[in-house]
Amino acid sequence: MSTTVAKFGGSSLADAAHFIRIGEIVAKDPSRRFIVVSAPGKRCADDVKVTDLLLQCFTMAAEEENFEPVLLQIRDRFLEIIRGIFEEKAADEEAWLLSELQTIRSRLLQEPDRDYTASRGEYLSARILSDYLGYTFVDPEWCVCFTEDGKLDLQMTQRTMGAALRPLQNAVIAGFYGADPKGAVRTFNRGGSDVTGALAARAAGADLYENWTDVPGLLSADPRIVRDPETVEYLSYRELRTLSYMGASVLHTDSVLPASDLGIPINIRSTEEPENPGTMIVRKLPKGSARRAVTGVAGRTGMSVIQVEKVMTSDGSGFASNILESLKKRNLPFEHCLTGIDTITLVLRSELLLPVKEELLKEFTEELHPDYLSVRDHLSMIAVTGEKGTDKSDANVRVLEALTAAGIEITTINQGAGKLNLLIGVPEESYEDAIRAIYTVIEREG
Ligand code: ASP
Repeated sequence: MSTTVAKFGGSSLADAAHFIRIGEIVAKDPSRRFIVVSAPGKRCADDVKVTDLLLQCFTMAAEEENFEPVLLQIRDRFLEIIRGIFEEKAADEEAWLLSELQTIRSRLLQEPDRDYTASRGEYLSARILSDYLGYTFVDPEWCVCFTEDGKLDLQMTQRTMGAALRPLQNAVIAGFYGADPKGAVRTFNRGGSDVTGALAARAAGADLYENWTDVPGLLSADPRIVRDPETVEYLSYRELRTLSYMGASVLHTDSVLPASDLGIPINIRSTEEPENPGTMIVRKLPKGSARRAVTGVAGRTGMSVIQVEKVMTSDGSGFASNILESLKKRNLPFEHCLTGIDTITLVLRSELLLPVKEELLKEFTEELHPDYLSVRDHLSMIAVTGEKGTDKSDANVRVLEALTAAGIEITTINQGAGKLNLLIGVPEESYEDAIRAIYTVIEREG
């Protein structure tokens, strides 16, 4: 039988109705054996996530303020869930919840600990869901291993979690936390239940990692810029990495590697539209899958470009390495580097460049004696992805035509030898128009 790890995010656990929906989703497919959960998230735009309430309690406790009213809000969130999903067991569950909250309260009063407190939302929601589904509860304190300095120990986790899950037919695992070698609770950074889901998929040798959230997949463009952008049906891990790096947010970035490493497909689904197949993220696209040449567009503003030019340098060596050495000395990362005949163009984040800009330019001038040196700020960088190999040049032409037709100045173009993965620089003021223009290429193919 195949095994699916299904991770449900905070919005999918926001209230009793969502817990019931999770029960239906899980019941529909027996391969959904391992369920990973977040803490209850927002029920509406101005609501507060349980994790944020817990963090408020921690801050107040650390400052010796009265956190009780906030803890009562947390109690009420879980009471609503318990009363909405259990019938005869409700009284026992309520009594259990109150005793758990008493433990959290005592810990906050005696030795407030940020990670322990933040982790309790996942702990409580996983315990409640495991009782509701009749699945074993797996506490990541025993199988998600952190090093003493708070980093994930992937190999140890793989061993320990594998051993914990192997004998189980079904389980609910709390997301977001684990423990260090001393047994202290440690959390991932925010949104980290996605990482736990990927770790569980890996440890269980799963065939599929489902990530259930409130959007039916990865959108092909930023919905704040493009109205109702289409959802991407298939995406490669590499495309996902590019789009997330450039700002598209759907999965925690650290959650991709543990799954992609073993080629486990990731399926982004929405609990609001459970029938929607969502976005499938895979290593290789299935043969014959209907795919567009251009799959997505994402970008970032706040970029600067430095251009250094010196005649005849392409005939020698060392020019580029001297430039990169100057960046390295200052721990200044660059986003892209384009080389031409006798010229090097660096694309950097303006906020990182700014503090060292003057000294860097001075060094370039004094040590490289360039014929031409310029800096241009207020630029944006846009990534366009696609993996339909043979259509790459055609897709490039259509993207560039769309930008030209919209009257957008193209400041840089970066295209590697691989699949379509075009990086285009445009002035910041035309960033949104450029995204909309590129989106027309995606839309026209649909
Ligand atoms: N509950 C945590 C957060 O709000 C982790 C998660 O939801 O993935 O960031």
